[in-house]
Amino acid sequence: MIYEAPVKDMMFLLDDWIGIDQIAALPGYEHVDRDTCEFVLEEAGKFCSRELLPLNRTGDEHGAVFKDGAVMSPPGFREAYAKFCENGWPGLDADPEHGGQGLPRLLQFLIDEMLGSSNMSFKLYAELTHGAYHLMASEASEDIRTRYLPNMVAGSWSGTMCLTEPHSGTDLGLLNTKASRSEDGTYTLTGTKIFITSGDHDLTENILHLVLARLDDAPAGVRGISLFLVPRTLVNDDGSLGERNAVNTASIEHKMGIKGSATCVLNFDQATGYLVGAENRGLMAMFRMMNLERIAVGIQGLGVAEIAYQNALAYARERTQSKAPGPRPDPSKAADPIILQPDIQRKLLKIRAQVEGARAMAVFAGFQADVQARSVDPDAVEAATDFVALLTPLVKSYLSDLGVSSALEAQQVYGGHGYIREHGMEQLVRDARITPIYEGTNEVQAVDLVKRKLTLHEGRLVQRLFQRWKELFDAQATEDELDFVMAPAREALLRLRDLTGWMVERLADDEATALAAATDYQRLFALTAVACFWAEIVAAMAGREGAFFEAKRRIAGIFMQQVLPETVALAVQVRNTDKLSNAVPLLDEA
Ligand SMILES: Cc1cc2nc3c(=O)[nH]c(=O)nc-3n(C[C@H](O)[C@H](O)[C@H](O)COP(=O)(O)OP(=O)(O)OC[C@H]3O[C@@H](n4cnc5c(N)ncnc54)[C@H](O)[C@@H]3O)c2cc1C
Repeated sequence: MIYEAPVKDMMFLLDDWIGIDQIAALPGYEHVDRDTCEFVLEEAGKFCSRELLPLNRTGDEHGAVFKDGAVMSPPGFREAYAKFCENGWPGLDADPEHGGQGLPRLLQFLIDEMLGSSNMSFKLYAELTHGAYHLMASEASEDIRTRYLPNMVAGSWSGTMCLTEPHSGTDLGLLNTKASRSEDGTYTLTGTKIFITSGDHDLTENILHLVLARLDDAPAGVRGISLFLVPRTLVNDDGSLGERNAVNTASIEHKMGIKGSATCVLNFDQATGYLVGAENRGLMAMFRMMNLERIAVGIQGLGVAEIAYQNALAYARERTQSKAPGPRPDPSKAADPIILQPDIQRKLLKIRAQVEGARAMAVFAGFQADVQARSVDPDAVEAATDFVALLTPLVKSYLSDLGVSSALEAQQVYGGHGYIREHGMEQLVRDARITPIYEGTNEVQAVDLVKRKLTLHEGRLVQRLFQRWKELFDAQATEDELDFVMAPAREALLRLRDLTGWMVERLADDEATALAAATDYQRLFALTAVACFWAEIVAAMAGREGAFFEAKRRIAGIFMQQVLPETVALAVQVRNTDKLSNAVPLLDEA
């Protein structure tokens, strides 16, 4: 497989669209400039292509191995992880107070895409640590922060999130891992967690589990859940490692993809834990990590889509088969490269238009996350918080679905050679498939979007986003040269506004219909959002000339012509859910 990080496109989005000066204007990011961003992205890209990509196949073939009660990562992962830490990648956006580099979250998102492209399994070992670090940095006590965070930033201790139990997946209110107060102020935890990513491995000296559990006297449901830090090895007062804690790995899962990532069953048998945040407020605290992870999982899908595109394009240029229609480059040859087949061209252009648009959505979300975290202007923070909250389910669902659909389309470009192992396309298909499932299935994202985000603050979140784009379109003269993007994006926005009103009404009168329509509505929303981001981008580069800008305009046009029309059908489907309930009794038939 080949992979070259799309640094040029990333820099374009940062510099020509968002504006690096806007990032550098945020307190703490004064040191961020164009050269720094480009250098960091170039170096990350090289690391991913040279160190991680060659291990992607190894990870798939050897997988993580469970032996004698412990998990071994695939061959080569330990050495690569050591280099990853030496180069300072675990602490990129971490606070300098803990040894981090204090760079923007937005840069982390872009590097996340590269990691997702080159080696999703490897990425997962670092990704959960990143999420756990940010949760602990904002929710844990001063003592925990001082004692644990520097080692997480250095990469020598890793993190996990332990939510899922055999009978409690989506519905965390059902979980029943128990926590009891001990006299010394610590807690003891007992229970079993399943599907825990990086729950055990040999890459780090210690593993810090962030565990949701229920105190003996806690109320039932989600209001009775607390969050605990449970280290695999206990940490002494002076920060050195002490005794092994009562956390044991029972097994690892054998799964469809991401085989290099260890997915563990963990038993907590009166393990010592430390409360993070307040008792019974654990789910709220955990959401800080989950929201970050949801965006990161969407970006995994984007990463897979990008590498699938790059490889399918290269293969299509090489593979000769059939004669191409129209004037042929060399009529003496029996067959032409399949890149000359119009259907292959359509497929590749469609993937590219979606990938570049999806990247813009991730970049916008990343920038807003930085504004939310850093700005001192309360209005800007409120706006950014709204944007991040609304975009989280969209980024998670749309980008992860894009990873799966692009991997499939790219595999199709290879014909039978995509189905066999040799070219790595079937691995991409298998690896991408988890992203719409974990970290809250995409259907659960749709419920979050419809039931929570649409109505939060009396609809302020959607109104704010719609207003941003209304102003963009209002500022555009009619019939101007940007109309090829502006007109379809404006039309899609009007359709979305209309349908959003319909959804809010249904939610009030007939929740079942609104929920049956939620997944289609979510996709329609995401496609419209990407179209509007494309419109913003095309407007931002108006008048710019050169091959790069011309290509961008054409790709934006492809998105409008070949991808956005799906929203027309989705709108019909959404409204037709009114009639779905008539058919539901059919499910009772034998
Ligand atoms: C490889 C892998 C790694 C994972 N890593 C972790 C980890 O590190 N930590 C962790 O805690 N968990 C982890 N998980 C668990 C993962 O997050 C859950 O599998 C996921 O949240 C879904 O839960 P479930 O599998 O129990 O499915 P269920 O909750 O049983 O859902 C089954 C189906 O019902 C649908 N459904 C359920 N409720 C609703 C609803 N309200 N509205 C609409 N549809 C609904 C779902 O969308 C799904 O289609 C991992 C899972 C896998 C496979």
